[in-house]
Amino acid sequence: MPDSNRHPGHRKLLSHIRKIMAAEGTAQYRLDALVKAIASNLHADVCSLYLRRPDTSMELWATYGLDPNAVHITRLGAGEGLVGEIVRLARPLNLTEAPSHPAFSFHPETAEDPFHGFLGVPVLRGGRLLGVLAVQSREARHYSNDDIEALQNVSMILAEIVSSGDLLTAHELENVALRPSRAETLSGRRISDGLAVGSAVLHDPARLKTILIAEDPEAEKTRLLTAITELRHAVDALYQGKGNRLGGPSREVLEAYRMFANDQGWLDRLCEAAGSGLSAEAAVERVRGEHRARLLSAKDPYLRERLHDLEDLANRLLRHLGAVDELVELPEDAVLIARTIGPAELLELDRSRLKALVLEEGSPTSHAAIVARALRLPVVGQVTGLLDRISPDDTIMVNAEEGIVSIRPDTDTEDLFRVRVDERRQRRATYARLREKPARTRDGQRITLTMNAGLRVDLPQLEESGAEGIGLFRTEFQFLLSDHLPRLNEQAQLYRAVLDAAGTRPVVFRTLDLGGDKILPYVAHERESNPALGWRAMRMAIDRPGLLRYQFRALIDATGGRELNIMFPLITTLTEFRIARNLLDEEIKRMTRFGYEMPAKVRVGSMVETPAIVWQLEGLLKEADFVSVGANDLMQYFFAADRENPRVAERYDILNPGSLNMLGHVATICRKAKRPVSVCGEIAGQSVEAAILIALGFTELSIPPAAIGPIKRMILSLDQKDLGTKLAKWVVEPQARVRENLMAYAQVKGLSL
Ligand code: PEP
Ligand code: MG
Repeated sequence: MPDSNRHPGHRKLLSHIRKIMAAEGTAQYRLDALVKAIASNLHADVCSLYLRRPDTSMELWATYGLDPNAVHITRLGAGEGLVGEIVRLARPLNLTEAPSHPAFSFHPETAEDPFHGFLGVPVLRGGRLLGVLAVQSREARHYSNDDIEALQNVSMILAEIVSSGDLLTAHELENVALRPSRAETLSGRRISDGLAVGSAVLHDPARLKTILIAEDPEAEKTRLLTAITELRHAVDALYQGKGNRLGGPSREVLEAYRMFANDQGWLDRLCEAAGSGLSAEAAVERVRGEHRARLLSAKDPYLRERLHDLEDLANRLLRHLGAVDELVELPEDAVLIARTIGPAELLELDRSRLKALVLEEGSPTSHAAIVARALRLPVVGQVTGLLDRISPDDTIMVNAEEGIVSIRPDTDTEDLFRVRVDERRQRRATYARLREKPARTRDGQRITLTMNAGLRVDLPQLEESGAEGIGLFRTEFQFLLSDHLPRLNEQAQLYRAVLDAAGTRPVVFRTLDLGGDKILPYVAHERESNPALGWRAMRMAIDRPGLLRYQFRALIDATGGRELNIMFPLITTLTEFRIARNLLDEEIKRMTRFGYEMPAKVRVGSMVETPAIVWQLEGLLKEADFVSVGANDLMQYFFAADRENPRVAERYDILNPGSLNMLGHVATICRKAKRPVSVCGEIAGQSVEAAILIALGFTELSIPPAAIGPIKRMILSLDQKDLGTKLAKWVVEPQARVRENLMAYAQVKGLSL
């Protein structure tokens, strides 16, 4: 690590610059003084500042040593000259003999011909290149590392000041490309349906407070080191699972955080920057900007991925330094932009202001997606390059029906969007008209459409959507959103509210499905290398039955004399089902003894979420009153593809003969056993998949409430027997293409998918 006392002259430069920037006068006057001060401090003959124009050319804004008449006249095309080379590389260029560099170009109007020594650095802000700052000398000269450091520090400060908007007038700012301004349309993945327009709010934005230059560099270094130590502890705690709530950073990301937080190269760069006279915050920002610029130009997706990890880490470090304003309140019409988000975080946001969510990652079966659907929040995920292209407050149109986002839309895009909004309104009006109509296929098969729920906010949806009941109530959501283990009466209150809202409609309560990615922050848990295959759901409940018995008590109490439907998650063997059922029976006996009013009827069901139970279904159905196919988990285990990992979550088409054979088997066995079966995974809420499920023989779907209208419309246009016959042929074709076949079939038969 370099000794920060080595270049006191450079520190003087920083305090000189602070004075210049704080002085009265036009921007031009101050920038002229700035380049002069730099030239003098570095004993250079020339110092020039170029800023990038919106057309991406580089304009000479200030110079000391070149012909002043060239200021605002000289413009270098993209990639032109040594300045263009720095733009391309996004890192310093230090040349003893500049004219012999292949990128050297001569501009007679600047009279730079006789200069040999050259040092230029990019002016970076958040990884985006705003300009280039360069010094030149008449003699051949190799600038020292300290000189490079000094120039980088000044350029970092310049970047902050220029982009703060305090230096340049509004008119001047029009000629500087501070942020992307082109209209762009990016595509991603539909995660939660809807349309919305609003202004971009960056989740986790680094909004740097303005102290950039250190009063006391040693004290700054100490502050920085303390913050780094705190950061390491915090990352370690996250890694060990403490405070990592549902959907927090994934294990892979945490591994990367840990690696960077302990990376000596990163720490050296930070300390070097702080020791050279920048405030600790400015040092973090400078190093972050340099990494960002370099990694942004990387083509390798792995490297770009690591860039995000470094960004997150820098944001965390700034937070430890107290340098970043927390996101206190969302503005009106906010469209939140994030790499990823957890469901608990999502619920903490003000829904009345939040119009949509756009993610670089995100998978449709993740729990955040399930919560977003419950909140009826439009979400587009897997939008590659999103964070590089958007700036805070940009207008953004989110078309989560098609998985498209338009940033800074032009008028044509706006018009098109308005058409989509109109169409959607009409469609919704159609769905509202269908609300009271029973879902019956054209050939007379009645299909029951119930809804999935888990939050109080879901309950009004029972009426609005026309759902025939709640086919899946995810009880763990209450636990995940609470900062303590919900007490018996808190649980009972929620269950009572659910039953009251449902009235005569049936409700199926699923017992706690914790573990995997659903970790309670207030319960100690051990790190598992494979959480989806780990100690979760029923396995946890059987090993620690206290929580489950407590929940049974709350459910029985809340039900009073009504009917109680309970379902167990992730059953893998018949023994697991029996153990859970016995616990319930014991609880019923115990509460009867204490004189509680007992439910009029208790029905006990099981989720079908593991291939293991699929192949023991006959046995299970002798004991279970009903089953529900949790296709999210069943498919994750069937394809061995983590549902939370966007890289693999959708790698395999569920309409593949293997999975369809398995689902068909489930439908057939349940029909033969005369036991009710529903499908409650996310696929049941998608028209294409739902049509296939019905063709396979499923007659109850439990789906997100917003899907009830579209699915009912599809059902009303479907001939179940006819599609069933076709499907039986499609799956045995050597090159089975069920999805394509269905799309073609829908066209011919007028099936509304
Ligand atoms: C499923 O796995 O399909 C399911 C409905 O349960 P969850 O999504 O809550 O895991
Ligand atoms: Mg599940």
